[in-house]
Amino acid sequence: MKTPSFFKTRFFSLFINACLCIPYLAQTQTEPLQLKYLGTAGWKITDGKIIVLVDPYISRVKLGTGPGISPDDDRKTVLRSDYFVSDTVGIDSLITRADFILVHHSHFDHLSDVPYIAKKTGAKVIGTETTCNILRAYGIPNDQLYPVKGGEDYQFENFSVRVVPSIHSALNKKHYIDNRVYSEVPKAPLRVSDFIEGGSLMFLARFDNHKVLTMGSMNFVERELFGLEPDILLAGVNQSQLGLYKYNERLLAGTNYPKVIIPSHWDNFRLPYGFSQQAAVELKLIPFKEDVKKLSPETKVIIPTHLGTITVN
Ligand SMILES: [Zn+2]
Repeated sequence: MKTPSFFKTRFFSLFINACLCIPYLAQTQTEPLQLKYLGTAGWKITDGKIIVLVDPYISRVKLGTGPGISPDDDRKTVLRSDYFVSDTVGIDSLITRADFILVHHSHFDHLSDVPYIAKKTGAKVIGTETTCNILRAYGIPNDQLYPVKGGEDYQFENFSVRVVPSIHSALNKKHYIDNRVYSEVPKAPLRVSDFIEGGSLMFLARFDNHKVLTMGSMNFVERELFGLEPDILLAGVNQSQLGLYKYNERLLAGTNYPKVIIPSHWDNFRLPYGFSQQAAVELKLIPFKEDVKKLSPETKVIIPTHLGTITVN
């Protein structure tokens, strides 16, 4: 015969199981993460609760006249000495809402569309002092800005983000350095060349079920990656990584061989959307994918297409 204590134990274990089930059910009911590639280092990431933009650069101006420009692109040429003007029609067609904008550094191909997008959406922007001062120049209020230098780890509702100190691509065959910052608010509007680097960051964006590590350049501080263990890496992939010591090997080991790697900042950003990026795919992404296959056979490399959405369950 079953004793009252049996029922008590049974009831208690059912209660415990029910409690254990609640987070499990909640987890399975969470929507998958969706990552929409905006080109350059730009992303729109959503888990169904919040929308996070990363370096949203939509205007893709026809910069200069040299390599990278297509004869079929009949838009007006833009020079580095020209004032930057955002393609607001293009932005409006792609961005209606945003909660956060993460900015890796302040070069025009990362920051120049952020003033318009921040004003339009009211999104909070996380970036360097230089990034924040440029946004102040365009009238973005302080309560929308989170100036960071790397090392911060901020908890927001439904989302947390760790700011990872980083370094810029070794441009100009490793002769690149730019230590300029805006420690005061510059005068708007800015010329293309006024969008100075102002320091470089990476971000570990934590959603309910995923940790996404973002890169806005083709370089990193190796020791800053250890322990982050993202399951999704938006990896800086470009030819400027050539000449860096074991770039792919150190990146994969430092990030503990993420389950999913999606190349970022690999396309020719002087071309408008809709133009073929096949040359960049073949030159940069196919070799990268083959290299990752050798270094980490379990890792899935997903090649993004402009304005295409990648879903990760
Ligand atoms: Zn840059």
